[in-house]
Parts: sequence; structure tokens; C-alpha cells
Amino acid sequence: MTGFIYEKNNEKIVTITMDMDGPVNAMNEEFLGLMDKTIERLEKEKDDIKGVIITSAKKTFFAGGDLKMLIGIQKGEEETFFKANEMNKSYLRRLEKLGKPVVAAINGAALGGGCEICLACHYRISLNDPTIQIGMPEVSLGLLPGAGGIVRTVRMLGLQNALPLVLEGKRLKPEKAIKAGLINELADSIDDMMQKAATFIRDNPEAAQPWDTPGYKIPGGDAKDPGVMQVMQAAPCMLLKKTKGLMPAPQKILAVAADSLKVDFDTALRIESRGMTSLVVTPEAKNMMTTFFFQLNELNAGGSRPDNIDKTSVKKLGILGAGMMGQGIAYVSAKVGIEVILKDISLEAAEKGKAYSQAICDKLVAKGRMTESKRDALLDLITPTDSDGTLSGCDLIVEAVFENIELKNIIIKSTEDYLSSNGVWGSNTSTLPITELAKAASKPENFIGIHFFSPVEKMPLVEIITGEKTSDETLAKAFDYAQQIKKIPIVVNDSRGFFTSRVFGTFIDEGCRLLKEGIDPVIIDMLARYAGMPVGPLEIHDEVSQELSKKVSATNKDLDKIRGENFCGISPTATEVGNRMIDEFGRKGRAYGGGYYEYPENGKKYIWPQIYEVYHDPKVNIDYQDIKDRILFRQIIESLKCFEEGVFTSVRDGNIGSIMGIGFPPHTGGVFQFVNTYGINNFITRAKELESKYGEKFQPPEILFKKAEQNAQFT
Ligand code: NAD
Repeated sequence: MTGFIYEKNNEKIVTITMDMDGPVNAMNEEFLGLMDKTIERLEKEKDDIKGVIITSAKKTFFAGGDLKMLIGIQKGEEETFFKANEMNKSYLRRLEKLGKPVVAAINGAALGGGCEICLACHYRISLNDPTIQIGMPEVSLGLLPGAGGIVRTVRMLGLQNALPLVLEGKRLKPEKAIKAGLINELADSIDDMMQKAATFIRDNPEAAQPWDTPGYKIPGGDAKDPGVMQVMQAAPCMLLKKTKGLMPAPQKILAVAADSLKVDFDTALRIESRGMTSLVVTPEAKNMMTTFFFQLNELNAGGSRPDNIDKTSVKKLGILGAGMMGQGIAYVSAKVGIEVILKDISLEAAEKGKAYSQAICDKLVAKGRMTESKRDALLDLITPTDSDGTLSGCDLIVEAVFENIELKNIIIKSTEDYLSSNGVWGSNTSTLPITELAKAASKPENFIGIHFFSPVEKMPLVEIITGEKTSDETLAKAFDYAQQIKKIPIVVNDSRGFFTSRVFGTFIDEGCRLLKEGIDPVIIDMLARYAGMPVGPLEIHDEVSQELSKKVSATNKDLDKIRGENFCGISPTATEVGNRMIDEFGRKGRAYGGGYYEYPENGKKYIWPQIYEVYHDPKVNIDYQDIKDRILFRQIIESLKCFEEGVFTSVRDGNIGSIMGIGFPPHTGGVFQFVNTYGINNFITRAKELESKYGEKFQPPEILFKKAEQNAQFT
């Protein structure tokens, strides 16, 4: 039987078990029909009911809004959507005004609409299971909690406590949800949860929502309270600083939350519905739903993993090189229970690498976010060593030694025999061709690129690079390992700079071109941020360090010669400007004391004053929109070239890789989704305009014309 199962026990407590069609319960047309019938029946039988428990027959409690439906809503359809949204809310309103206690028994994840159903209940009990997530993450999809979530949390917790929940889209474990005030009680088992729900019903026969109780005062006060007024003055500025005005959803959430305090409850709900209606048709919402829901789900479900190969997991991992990357890889791997052999040239260096994990764990323990025994168990899994023999039996070896072909070739040869049969050898190189490196391996089919981002424990992405001979089994194993350590794997084919490094290079290059043309460096970095990049190109060049860029470009020059390619021609100005900064002025980057910026020990960074003498030309004036477009278009055009050349296996991987690996603005949905939304023909026109003003780097690639001819999008 599917639908909402309605069962009344001999104590006259009704349990409604949500068991909708399909794998999850969701807010869709079926839901509206089921709510209509259920609420009508509850109201009819009210006098013969003691209370109501709402729970789910699925693994999750309730999945939230139906995004397939939401993504399809177009401009012009707002009125219909608004009415359906209001209808949905009216059921929840009738539920909380039933006059009988209603309890949410949360047996699984309650996110978005699921959390909002719980908020319309008088009491919320969750299983105390850390895998359960409770919260309203709509903002991350460009939407707002539109089923009463904003209005109820603000009324229930006060503006200040409610804002982080709805603005940041936090997903909380039950223990945290109780601290945040989202739920009331925890239960150890389903039986315990149902008994506690019944107890609440017995003890609170007259249960009503606080906002429907005369004399109720919102915690922290209403709109006239000075404290609330202060929050309302500061919050929009803080938000603007963070979003640069590029994200309509958080702005709307803030506005709805503030307005909700000025009006009665039902008017507030209507304001929220209007907010949701205005957001659902925005390009930002469509972009974010496309990439962060549909494409990310596909990717997580193994979209880029070869089919028909059994899932594997790594038990023993060897890491060669315990430097910046190796130590991070060791931590994320031990964290999920993998035994790690961390090898460096000396035991001391390897131990230093392990100390990195110790430092992270100690901080977590101090903050109460990790128990001492968990820390000890994690650290026990990491064995520092200077001997290859300890690698015996590893099912995966990842190297993170210096970026040097000869060195990598030597360690491939000296360690591959220690792998278990069919073990995989992965390189974390950021620039060296995988096919080239694989030549040193006796089994190139078991060789692959596993490219991490720094800092490893924070960055969600792993770029997997297949060499010419890499087997499907090896790709599947690398993919499974990335998922085992809770990273998001994108898969690309072997090509110089792969995808992320190549496109990232064009970001820095365009910043350097603008600098060379005479634009104020502060303006360049600021406009990059206003275009949605998390940092400016000159700031990030300082972070990466001009020194490292110089080394990498020297390697690339050699490779160009050997391979008859012109990879260095993709981002030549970054090399030219970076090298000049080092050679003429000794400005090697932040880690070396400074680059384009000065980094005082006890203060904020500021621009290196002399740079104005070196590069700035006050007579040069470029339109700000042109600067912002140049910064984004360079990256998109390079990504389109990657697509043309077959570097990608899918648009999805390009979109997600660009946002999570390079920092491309999330509201665009990624490099390819940007083009879809901009319109292919509009993009061609604008690229040509930029080309005529700023040179051939903006020449629109052929693939755009093909797509335009086919009237197709990048999907
Ligand atoms: P690093 O200089 O911090 O660490 C390299 C480590 O390798 C050092 O501890 C060194 O002692 C050790 N090492 C050298 N020879 C060794 C050998 N024969 N056996 C074992 N260990 C040896 O370098 P890193 O920044 O961690 O980079 C390592 C690799 O990862 C490079 O290929 C780099 O291109 C790549 N990478 C770096 C980043 C980054 O942001 N730093 C990002 C992605 C990829």
C-alpha cells in the first residue's frame, strides 16, 4: 500500500505513515492530494482523536520539494505556482490548528520541505542517529524554504537564531538540531520514538503552536525591538559583502524573515510564498538546481564511473611524499578508516607529515568535535616510514613527491612491485602528463592521475585523469577511493594541465594581462570578486606563489619542446609577469614574504606600493563590465576548448569541477551552464566583441557555432 497510511490505535492516537510513490516522500502533486484527504479526515474525526503522529515508511523522513517540477517552472507561470504553494501551506496550517497535538516522529533525513512539515507539528522527536540530517538547505539551490520554514523558525527561535538556519542552509545532525532548537527530543529507537510521541500527546491534549497562543512573544522581540532592528541594519550589509549581490536567494530570505516580523502569521506565510515564487524562475535557481542537484547527484551515483565493475574499497594505502599534499591525503584517508603508510625520504619528514593529522585532530578534540579515542584510533592508522618495504600489500599507492618527472619515474619503478595484485598506482601531479608518467610503470593499465586540491581536508574535489592505457578497472578503483574518502570525483582525459590547472591558469593569466595593460591591481582583484570569484587573480597568484609558477612553467617549456606542443602559449602573461616580479623585484609570493601584496605579520595585507610604478597606467580605462567578463570568459573559453578536445567525458564534470576545483561562481552553475543561461548566440556575440577589443584569447571556439547551429545546449 502506498500513500499516507492512516492508523488509529485503541488509545485514539492516529499515526500517519508517509509512503508515497517512488523511493522518497516529496512535495509534489501526489503530496497535495494526500494532504487534502488526510487533513479533511483528521478534521472530520477530530473529536474522536487524541493526537496525531507523523512518520515515514521510507529510509528518509521526507525529501523536500520536487526539484524536477520546480526546475520546469517558467516565467509567466508564477501565479499558478504561487497558488499551489499557498495550497500546500494551507494544509500545514490546518494541521497545526487541528486543536489536537501533532508530533513529528523523524525516522530519517528531514531536509527542506521535510523539515518544514516537522515545524508545522507541535513537537518534534528524532531518532538519535548521526546519519540523519535535519535542516533547510534550499538556499544552496537558489531557493528559499517556501513551506513556512522561514516564518516558523523566526517565530519559534527569534530572528537572530533563525537566520543562520535559513540563510546558510545548515544540515544538522539530530544532536545539533536539538541545540539549534529545531527539534525537541531524541529517541534511541523507533519504539522509543513512538512511545515518546504518545507521551507528548497524552501530556499535552490542548497543544497549539506558540504563535497561535495569545500573548506569545517572539524570542528576541519583534520588528520594533532595538536588538532586532540592529540585526536588520547590519545583516544586509554583511550579506552583500559575502554574495556581492550575485545571489538573489539569501537576499530574499533575509527580506522575508524581516518582513515576517512586521505582520500577522498568515500574512507572513503569504510574503514567504511570494518570495519563493520570485526565486523559482530566476536563472540563478535554475543554474544551481541543475548543477548542485541533478548533475551532482548523477556524479555521486557514479555517472563518470565505468559500468559493470564491482565497487571496491581501499584497505591499505601508500602515500609517497609527506609534504603539503601527502599529509592531507593521509589525514582524509585515515579519517575513513584506511590504513596509511606515509613514506618520505627520512623518518623525520614522514613523522612531520603525520604530525599534521595530529594537529587537526587535537584541534577537533579541544573543540569537543572529536573524542580522544577516535583521535587515537585515527592516528594509529598512519604509519610514518622511510622504507619502501612497508608498502607491501597496499591496494593503492598515491605519490605526492616534488613535481619532477625523473623523480616520479624513479619512485614508480621502486615501489610498484609492493602493490597487491591489481593494485593501483596514482599520481597527484598537477601538470605532468599521465600517459608520459605511465611509461615508467610495468603495468600502465594500473596507472592513473588522482589530482587533489589544497588544503586536501577542506577541498571537496578530486580530479581523476585517465592515461592512454589506464584500464576501466583502474578508473573504477580510483573513483571508488575518492568516494570512500568522501570527495567528489570528476573524470577527465589526459591533457596538458588536465582541466582544472589549465583553466585556473587562464584566470591568473587574465589578471596579469589586465595588470600589464595598466589597470589598478586593487580594481582587478575587486572586480574578480564582484564577478563571483572567491579571490582575485593577483591574490591567488601570490598564494600559489610566483616561485612555484616559475618552476611549473619551466617544466612546461621542456615538455612543450619534447612533445612539440604550445601549452605555455595558453597563459603566457602569468609567466611573464610572475617571472618579472621574481627576477627584478624578488617578489616570489606570499610564502616568500610577499608578491603583488605585502603581508604584515600583525595586520591585513595591502598592495605592494611599488607595483604602481612597475605596471599601473592611470590613463588606461577599461569598462568594469568588460573587466568582469574578461575574467570569466577566459575561463569559459578555455573550458570550451577542453570540451572540444575531448578532455571531458561530460558537461556535468566540467560544471562541478569549475566550481569546486577552480572557484568559478556557484550561481552560474559552472562554466558550461553559464553559456546555456547567457545564451549560446549571445555568448558568441560578446566573445567576438571582447576579441575585437582585447585580442584573440576571446575568440569563440568552434563548438559554440556547432551548438548554435543545432540550437542545442551544453547538457
Ligand atoms: P611538498 O614539497 O610539500 O612535498 C613533497 C614531499 O615529497 C617532501 O616532503 C619530500 O621530502 C618528499 N619526497 C621527495 N622525494 C621523495 C621520495 N623519493 N620518496 C618519498 N618522498 C619524497 O610538495 P606538495 O606541494 O605536497 O606537492 C606534491 C605533489 O603534489 C607535486 O607533484 C605537486 O605538483 C602536486 N600538487 C600540489 C598541489 C599544491 O597545492 N601544493 C596541488 C595539487 C597537486
